[in-house]
Amino acid sequence: MRRKTVSFLIRDVGMGSDYPVTVQSMTNTDSHDVVATLAQVEQLAALGAAIVRVAAPDMAAVPAVAEVARQSSVPIVADVHFDYRIAIAALEQGVDAVRINPGNIGGLEKLAAVVEAAKKADAAIRIGVNSGSVEKELLEKYGHPCPEAMVESLEKYVHFCESLGFEKLVLSVKSSDVPTMIRVNEMAAERFKYPLHLGVTEAGTVRSGTIKSSVGIGSLLAHGIGDTIRVSLTGDPANEIPVAVGILKSLGLMKAGVDIVSCPTCGRTQIDLARLAEEVETLCQTIERPLKIAVMGCVVNGPGEAKEADLGIAGGKGAGIIFRKGEIVHKCHEEELLDAFKSELENLLTEETNK
Ligand code: SF4
Repeated sequence: MRRKTVSFLIRDVGMGSDYPVTVQSMTNTDSHDVVATLAQVEQLAALGAAIVRVAAPDMAAVPAVAEVARQSSVPIVADVHFDYRIAIAALEQGVDAVRINPGNIGGLEKLAAVVEAAKKADAAIRIGVNSGSVEKELLEKYGHPCPEAMVESLEKYVHFCESLGFEKLVLSVKSSDVPTMIRVNEMAAERFKYPLHLGVTEAGTVRSGTIKSSVGIGSLLAHGIGDTIRVSLTGDPANEIPVAVGILKSLGLMKAGVDIVSCPTCGRTQIDLARLAEEVETLCQTIERPLKIAVMGCVVNGPGEAKEADLGIAGGKGAGIIFRKGEIVHKCHEEELLDAFKSELENLLTEETNK
């Protein structure tokens, strides 16, 4: 069951347990370049990002980030480090939220000023703490930046924001070590009532980052912890979204889009199933309606699994069968399978639209 949290809107996107878990990403364009940044924001949004973070590295970037927020179809979070005045300016100029690490903006007075600006703008603040930002006194107390130290560091800032009457908070406690990231978020979930932003920092390349993020984020979501997620991968942020969406879909937390079930192939497979599964996936990637599609290699498990699906292919010897909602609708040669599948898919989508 999903952990109960404070819920609120960031522009028109729900945050917290009253709303679905959202996918976030972050642009890597030059934040001073409105055109390039906006284009990337929209690309990420089209892929499935509900919220996009844009770095505001200096005061000169603030008008550009605010302009991106004005024009973008999804809420924009300005990512600010070190200079609290950048966060205030971004809020005054209309960004939907700011992400700050209170440990590096220079004390509680400065945090209070950012909170004031967020209140005036009716914007949210994401407070981030990571193992590198734990204060000296907590490091002395715990000996190293363990989950207990990170959560205690966060607690001080959360209580301070609450004392100012501010509750539009999203919390993130991140680590590049997956077991630490899981533990620290479990502790934060017990201690705080605010939405949690989940992610494994510096997770790595597409391959290793996908594994670490899926394990870290997935384990927490499976236990009802987490309200918004970011899969961090080195390079093009467009790679992050399918992974994040895949994590949510695999846990049944996102119903939209096609769920493709395909077998791993084995000695019984007698068609080029890997190619067929890739082609089916490409064909289905823009479909938003929830559909289950099965691509199976043989008659042993194939028809059974395929029958469970809205549409399915079960391979045979250089040939295959297409099932639709449990009924055989085609038997054909391997070369004709994809075309037959495509026409059945089109029929299915047209009929469901006309219902
Ligand atoms: Fe092998 Fe058939 Fe199972 Fe695919 S469905 S892995 S071909 S037994």
